[in-house]
Amino acid sequence: MSVYRGAVCKLCRRERRKLFLKGSRCLTAKCAIEKRDYPPGQHGRGRFRESEYNLQLREKQKVKRTLFMTEKQFRRFYAIAEKMEGSTGENLLINLERRLDNIVKRLGLASGIQQARQLVLHRNIMVNGRVTNIPSYMVNEGDVIAVREKSRELEVIKSALEENQSIGVPDWLTFDADKMTGEVNRFPTRDEITLAGGDIQENLIAELYSK
Ligand code: SF4
Repeated sequence: MSVYRGAVCKLCRRERRKLFLKGSRCLTAKCAIEKRDYPPGQHGRGRFRESEYNLQLREKQKVKRTLFMTEKQFRRFYAIAEKMEGSTGENLLINLERRLDNIVKRLGLASGIQQARQLVLHRNIMVNGRVTNIPSYMVNEGDVIAVREKSRELEVIKSALEENQSIGVPDWLTFDADKMTGEVNRFPTRDEITLAGGDIQENLIAELYSK
């Protein structure tokens, strides 16, 4: 699996917006977007050509980068959404929110999506009582997500829980901090999507892929 090893904040600067990839740091003045809200590189401050294609591409990249997905992985999610009833763009966003790494982050067990992915890959997370090490696993309604008993003392999880205490979990999830266990009550609605800060024009992504 390809893993992005570059500077995370560069991804936000490339999209010229906060993608909230670094936990609480994103809410402070240390955020790179607060200091330099223009793309990295020699021509970062140059003029932009806002062609239709460019707008569509940037919208797709923004969502893809929020979850550190490769183009192939993102396309696979798009293909699944296309086969579902209703709006493909909306289905895509809901399915992305359902990814196990995203759920781990939403439950407050990780401070960012990269950390959430590591927790899943390193077999610290169980779904319905079984260890699941696939970050892209799509949870279903009623699924129970828990930290493995032997992983409950991990400092990385404890500090993430403390850091995320004030944020809480979205209405479509419940979480018992003492048991380090959460449940998917239902799928999120479009209004509850918070990927990339929530401000996504999914129709642009659908237009890009329908060419
Ligand atoms: Fe870095 Fe977070 Fe700011 Fe993005 S939002 S530039 S990840 S600190």
